[in-house]
Amino acid sequence: MRKGNLDQVKHVLLVLSGKGGVGKSTITTELALAFRHAGKKVGILDVDLCGPSIPRMLSVGKPEVHQCDSGWVPVYADPQQQQQLALMSIAFLLEDSDEAVIWRGPKKTALIGQFVSDVAWGELDILLVDTPPGTSDEHLAVLENLRKHRVDGAVLVTTPQAVSTGDVRREITFCKKTNLKILGIVENMSGFVCPHCSECSNIFSKGGGEELAKLTGSAFLGSVPLDPLLTESLEEGRDFLQAFPESSTFTAIS
Ligand code: ADP
Repeated sequence: MRKGNLDQVKHVLLVLSGKGGVGKSTITTELALAFRHAGKKVGILDVDLCGPSIPRMLSVGKPEVHQCDSGWVPVYADPQQQQQLALMSIAFLLEDSDEAVIWRGPKKTALIGQFVSDVAWGELDILLVDTPPGTSDEHLAVLENLRKHRVDGAVLVTTPQAVSTGDVRREITFCKKTNLKILGIVENMSGFVCPHCSECSNIFSKGGGEELAKLTGSAFLGSVPLDPLLTESLEEGRDFLQAFPESSTFTAIS
């Protein structure tokens, strides 16, 4: 295990969700772009073994990962930009995207441990860690390895209806048990923005994230509506990257 790769990283934030498909990777990507837009040096560590989707969202494909003396060299999304966005994803190291799903626990946790300590990030203001959904050994492995450095806290992503299922509550219990500070809760897919008239309708419900934040004494960071244009932009990562923040509903949070 290499030491010191996180020494020049000022802040480490984890992005967590109770279950998959609620928009954790979307919010991680938007957070990264919002921080970059604010002039920060940002990195994303994508350890979501169940669905490492950040490379697609940022349109970096599956590049060859190079090694230097201090570890793996991150891939840079949009390298023409002065304010670069560094990325390391588990997807870069897999032969095919379904491979990690069949790994046994120890192999997963060993890879995560290596992943967390072996990326040569250089100087970063913020490193965002996109974790797998739920609470698992993989989360503990991430925390255990990051704690050698320092973790500032976690941003929890939920959908309005997920709030009532208890998945997020389990996530909150996990944070409390592991002394991981909850920086705040984001409600994603909160209503639907009509592509024709731009009106936002609440298909499921609204306000659950805020209610949960109040109940748990956490900060409510904001709500992001379901926006078909956002889904489209994320499929075509490069457009999203170049058009941010205009392409984004994320201003709801930032
Ligand atoms: P998770 O990381 O929680 O599994 P993703 O971020 O991969 O979820 O999102 C799942 C799907 O939902 C993706 O296709 C993404 O583009 C889409 N999506 C997420 N949030 C929104 C949103 N606010 N508006 C429109 N599409 C969204």
